[in-house]
Amino acid sequence: MGMMIKIAHLYPDMLNLYGDRGNIIALTKRMELRGISTQVDRITMGKSFNADDYDILFIGGGQDFEQDVLLEDLKKGKDKEIKRAVDSGKVMLAICGGYQMLGKYYKTYDGKMLEYIGALDFYTEGKEERMIGNFAYKTKEGIEVVGFENHSGKTYLGSGVSPLGKVLVGGGNNGEDGFEGVRYQNVFGTYSHGPVLPKNPAFCDHLLTTALQQRYPALELQPLDDAAELAAHNTMRDRLLKK
Ligand code: GLN
Repeated sequence: MGMMIKIAHLYPDMLNLYGDRGNIIALTKRMELRGISTQVDRITMGKSFNADDYDILFIGGGQDFEQDVLLEDLKKGKDKEIKRAVDSGKVMLAICGGYQMLGKYYKTYDGKMLEYIGALDFYTEGKEERMIGNFAYKTKEGIEVVGFENHSGKTYLGSGVSPLGKVLVGGGNNGEDGFEGVRYQNVFGTYSHGPVLPKNPAFCDHLLTTALQQRYPALELQPLDDAAELAAHNTMRDRLLKK
């Protein structure tokens, strides 16, 4: 049998702000172009899942409203599976509202306390001023990422996790400490919509390689012709950084 990876897409119908589903398309397309098949399961409200069945978990962003509505469902078992996945080193990509949901809590700007799953050591507090706009950051592996952020939540990382990267332009986690996103084992949390992966092919391949190497340790992904992806990436990069 050929190579295959399985992706769990959490709340695909509820958390899909600014086309976050495009991340799933980028992941599957970049596998298909290398002859590796993918299976994507939609894990909607009311549906349970077993983290052991998957190589990659993905959760997109949403508004405060959706995050509130989903909280009850999250606590009916998905929270435990997500924690298990995180602790066992599975690859997970979480965007904005989905990223916030992995932390301890999110206190919204209007004072509502949403207790989250605490899979990772951070918390988020909503502020009046939103961080909105195109932004860029660099991961500790040296991967430059461009994207679009729009959040009132300011995220503060605890000592048990690392930031995903350093902000080059924009707000990032909180607009104060110069960091963006979270990294813990193989979990990647970011404020970047866009969707983020199509125009950051190096970041997409980093996630795929990390996931695939858990099954096929010696695997190296073949390079692809990324002319179109890099044109999109570089256009935004130059607009932001060459001012
Ligand atoms: N509701 C969150 C905030 O405003 C997340 C928004 C988002 O996913 N773009 O901070």
